[in-house]
Amino acid sequence: MDQKSQAYKAYFLGPMAENEAWVRGEFQGILEHWFQWRKQLFPGDARVSEKPERRTPAYLEARERMIAGLEELTELLEGEVPKFTPRYIGHMVSELTLPALMGHFAMLLHNPNNTSRDASRIGSVIEVEVIAMLAEMLGFDPSQATGHITGGGTVANFEAVWRARFRQDHWLSLMLYLAEKRNITLDLFEGAHMGWQRFGELLAEHEVPLDDLREFSCVATNPYEFGERMTKAFGQPYRGPVMLVPENKHFSWTKATNIFGYGEHAFWPVPLDGQGKMDVAALELLIEQAKIEGRPISMVVSVAGTTETGEIDPVDQVQGILNAAKRRHGWDIWHHVDAAYGGFLCSLLRGKPSSVLSVSNAAALGAIGEAHSVTIDPHKLGYVPYSCGAIITRNEQAYAVSSFKAPYLERQLEVPDKWSTTLEGSRSAAGAAATWLTGKTMGFDTAGLGGVIEETIVACRVFKKRVGAELPFVRFLNPSETNILCYSLAETGGSLKASNATTEAVFDRFVECPDFSVSKTTLSNKAHRKVIDRHVKAFGGVVDDDRLVLIRCVFMNPFWRETEVADRLTGDIIRYLEAWYGSGA
Ligand SMILES: *Cc1c(COP(=O)(O)O)cnc(C)c1O
Repeated sequence: MDQKSQAYKAYFLGPMAENEAWVRGEFQGILEHWFQWRKQLFPGDARVSEKPERRTPAYLEARERMIAGLEELTELLEGEVPKFTPRYIGHMVSELTLPALMGHFAMLLHNPNNTSRDASRIGSVIEVEVIAMLAEMLGFDPSQATGHITGGGTVANFEAVWRARFRQDHWLSLMLYLAEKRNITLDLFEGAHMGWQRFGELLAEHEVPLDDLREFSCVATNPYEFGERMTKAFGQPYRGPVMLVPENKHFSWTKATNIFGYGEHAFWPVPLDGQGKMDVAALELLIEQAKIEGRPISMVVSVAGTTETGEIDPVDQVQGILNAAKRRHGWDIWHHVDAAYGGFLCSLLRGKPSSVLSVSNAAALGAIGEAHSVTIDPHKLGYVPYSCGAIITRNEQAYAVSSFKAPYLERQLEVPDKWSTTLEGSRSAAGAAATWLTGKTMGFDTAGLGGVIEETIVACRVFKKRVGAELPFVRFLNPSETNILCYSLAETGGSLKASNATTEAVFDRFVECPDFSVSKTTLSNKAHRKVIDRHVKAFGGVVDDDRLVLIRCVFMNPFWRETEVADRLTGDIIRYLEAWYGSGA
């Protein structure tokens, strides 16, 4: 028996609760410890109830109500979507790991609110430690990187926008100050990306007191008045910053332009190539366009693991373009990587090397550590319970926000309470504990979590190969390099419109069928024209529709690596697809 392949079976309860015996003991142990902690900490304190009081009708009635209520809840939960089983390949969730569940549960009972150190002596320390573990996995220097756990990837993306805006606001304030007070007008685009070093030099050269900049700040004063003053100072209409985000973006980016008051027109989509990845040549053109229009670039975003198809943008090439812009022109442009889904693929780069990633994807993931900020969701590929995302920045300087101070001047060595620098106020430490225990026990490398993820990618490929061999009408979306697999159903030479109708109908049959959960995604011609052309061309079809309907399977469940599981479930899916397709769905 292959030793390596057995270790993972300890990390999950198992679809048939195979690990029930010892896991029950461990969860009881958590409760046991919780009871003992209470009893032992202040043993001389008064007890608030004794046996006779616990026999009164009021007490007994209250207890019965809770027991009945809990029974009702657990019965209701039997109707919940069963995400633990390998039959669930719907969205980016699956069986959770035991360390994550145990860490989450243990912390839940102690319930620290991670807003401040006095509310959370242990939770806040665990958070610092887990951020360092994630930072190291992502390729940052863990002694420099910082960040915090968020409610999810959406909030983590907002945290990055907030920080990038804070930084650029300093540079814009100084420009407005110099223009209004000293009659010195810098080039608008160059100034908006001047970098902290140039900022410091200009402050010194013109003897500008930092505190005076407050009255020249967009965020600290009034954005409309700021716009008018900028228009006047620079002799061209000031229309605010733009965000350069690939068309394969998650909804959270449109929400961000909206919430941060940039307006949705500030969202400049970067076109995609035929594989659905950011087209870096198009990115260069858009940077040029922003320069011509005098629009500050708030940030450039690349996506590592798109929500729809799991594709990884060439993060390394994006970083290369920004590095070159800095070298050649001195432009310091913020690079954020939205690795909400794919961030944990970096665990495949740590430890014994894995060959499952393509060279280009390994290079893209390997460059994440050069970005200013990264979003990663432990509650997706980290196999941790909701709700747990994280924002990580390269260093303290990139983390700075909210108070009008120059982070390059004052390096706070003491870690401050987080509440003043997080978008969310109160934050649970349960997600931090769950991720921490995962890192401590499984580890974020190929010997641990990375090995589990690696096998899910292999399982996805095995599934694709067998289905592709047996069902010629299943058209896989290329390249599907991770564990997300999308396909449409089409006859050779058929029309896209007919194919979309069939795929949709077959998807509806999946929805009705209790045996499997899959999801559906629809790519629009606006964002994915090249992808759609390529896909339809591959089966010699005709593009007569403006969208491509795909059935989407996320192979996150670790048990698909078991041959017996995979053979049986793949066989069932093949029979269903054959029957539904054959009957015209
Ligand atoms: C899931 C996802 C998000 C949003 O994360 P939530 O945790 O759902 O808020 C953002 N970006 C990408 C690429 C995602 O896959």
